[in-house]
Amino acid sequence: MNQTCLQCINQNLSCCHHPRIIVTYEEICFFKKQGYKIEDVIMARKYCDEESFILDWKEYAVFRKNGENYEICIKKNKDSSCVFLTAHGCSLKENRPLGCQIYPFWVVENSVIFDSCNDFKCLLSSFDIHHMLAIIGETEKSIRLYYSKFKNSMIKHKEILAKILPMLSQT
Ligand code: SF4
Repeated sequence: MNQTCLQCINQNLSCCHHPRIIVTYEEICFFKKQGYKIEDVIMARKYCDEESFILDWKEYAVFRKNGENYEICIKKNKDSSCVFLTAHGCSLKENRPLGCQIYPFWVVENSVIFDSCNDFKCLLSSFDIHHMLAIIGETEKSIRLYYSKFKNSMIKHKEILAKILPMLSQT
């Protein structure tokens, strides 16, 4: 995690305070392998249709329960920080989920876009997208790769993810 991201974290403006960092089945397996109790690190979050962030493939990431739509996300502390966040940044380091690695970018209709997600104004947002990518050591190619891994994993494991849903606390 670079210095720019750490500045954002200190102002509660980063993905580490964002309510919806979606996790893939592989990431859940990784948490289990590391000895975490699943219900301590992931949660079910109500999905609102106005949130367009994943509209191009929401059918794979949104699950129905008791008539409501949910996503499976990283769990948050009471102050809205991620349970993996420490004073020195992310405790998962290079193993942080794809949703964190891709933030604050996304891919829409094959274009890499900056997605500051409403209230979360990333410190990078005053630069153009290529400059922003360079600052955090990413490229359009790397963002496309995270996106495609993320999407493919969600598609592949949708049914397993849906089975995990009843075990989780809900917000
Ligand atoms: S897993 Fe790490 S990078 Fe991702 S939101 Fe949590 S603390 Fe931030």
